[in-house]
Amino acid sequence: MSVATTATCATTEAPDRALLPVVGADTRVPLVDGRSVAYANLDYAASAPALEAVAARVVEVLPLYASVHRGAGYLSQVSTALYESSRATVARFVGARPDDVAVITRNTTDALNLLAGCVPDGGRVLVLDVEHHANLLPWVSAFRDTGRTATILPAAPTVAATLVALRDELARRPYALVTLTGASNVTGEALPLTSVVALAQEAGARVAVDGAQLLPHRAFSLAESGVDYVAFSGHKTYAPFGAGALVGRRDWLDAGTPYLAGGGAVRDVRTDRTLWQPAPARHEGGSPNVLGAVALAQACDTLQALPAGALAAHEEALRDRLVTGLATVPGARVLRLWSDSTDPVGVVSFTVGDHDSGLVAAYLSAEHGIGVRDGRFCAHPLLARVGVDGGALRASVGVGSTAETVDRLVAGLLAFVADGPRARYEVVDGCWTVAGDTRPRPAVSGIDAIAATAAAACGPAVED
Ligand code: PLP
Repeated sequence: MSVATTATCATTEAPDRALLPVVGADTRVPLVDGRSVAYANLDYAASAPALEAVAARVVEVLPLYASVHRGAGYLSQVSTALYESSRATVARFVGARPDDVAVITRNTTDALNLLAGCVPDGGRVLVLDVEHHANLLPWVSAFRDTGRTATILPAAPTVAATLVALRDELARRPYALVTLTGASNVTGEALPLTSVVALAQEAGARVAVDGAQLLPHRAFSLAESGVDYVAFSGHKTYAPFGAGALVGRRDWLDAGTPYLAGGGAVRDVRTDRTLWQPAPARHEGGSPNVLGAVALAQACDTLQALPAGALAAHEEALRDRLVTGLATVPGARVLRLWSDSTDPVGVVSFTVGDHDSGLVAAYLSAEHGIGVRDGRFCAHPLLARVGVDGGALRASVGVGSTAETVDRLVAGLLAFVADGPRARYEVVDGCWTVAGDTRPRPAVSGIDAIAATAAAACGPAVED
């Protein structure tokens, strides 16, 4: 696997305006020197801000909020209708076939764990070692003692060689499912879905796509791609209200282990037996998240209403500008999985010389008001594969990003390499922080615990 130093050339003029308005685009954040600046959000891949259209829709339906599937009251019926029409919108967004089922979940992790419980008994799953943990652990930990098994195949240094490795492995033994990311949360790259689907279909296996990073960035269709299942998260798709989805073939979802046992998932319960509902209700035990589903549906509609290719063009131009800018930063290395991959989404991870990624991220935040992600991005085997031991930095863009945001990051990195940090930083419980940080907190309640929360996230590990 290579760690590339090359930058692609900017082919399109990078946009100086957001493609769609997002909530909080003007939010200012304090710097350690006492100034404040507009927040440069380059962390869309972790969680994207809400579209203004999504926020407006939530405000619109909030007065109509009532229980879903549980009440004869007028507003309960309205809320139930909103929930079910949101499900239909989500299915349409992913190009579902008429007999596919859309299950509303909490997020992608939830959706893939749900799918793991629906793989037929004794089924074997094939997955590459470059997946986000959400598309690795369900097939390993969650499969333990279930009779189902997973093969974790090492990715090869090129797309072409990885496809050959997949083909060979599929020929070696029968697989029920091949599951892969639609776009890597580390490099933005992906294998060509059409090729993987063709290989899987030839071997009689189904295909699941972890769409967490694909669906916010590119149009996708189950029907057109031949993919059997897709999972994605509302909070990465500009709808941060706690809903995600799993959409795909009905038979496995109807027969699979009910994901959340409880009210709503059952038809009839006696103390000695339970009659379960078919999907999607079978997997949606408990009171449904109607506001989350409505928000997700609004995001889907808004993205789908963009002119064809506009989303991809916006992000490609910003990604090109970012990669070109990083090439000017001494010691910066952009991580790549495959030397022959094409069309990555707007997610770029990199290292800066031997500098600790946690320190660089803390510096960018405290001295430039820039938000990036650092660490191993919930993809530890992938980071090991590209030869990064400690951690890296990740900048990711979306519909609210502009060239100015990207340029600020490059300027911040250049200043870091040239002059180093001006403030003093220290590691507290494994996390880089400004020593004696006096930046004021926003005037909203519940903010006092920031430091304690960060420390808790860096706490000691417990082995599986
Ligand atoms: N898959 C990929 C590619 C991701 O980037 C992420 C989150 O970063 C996930 C799955 C998990 O998504 P969630 O945290 O919304 O469950």
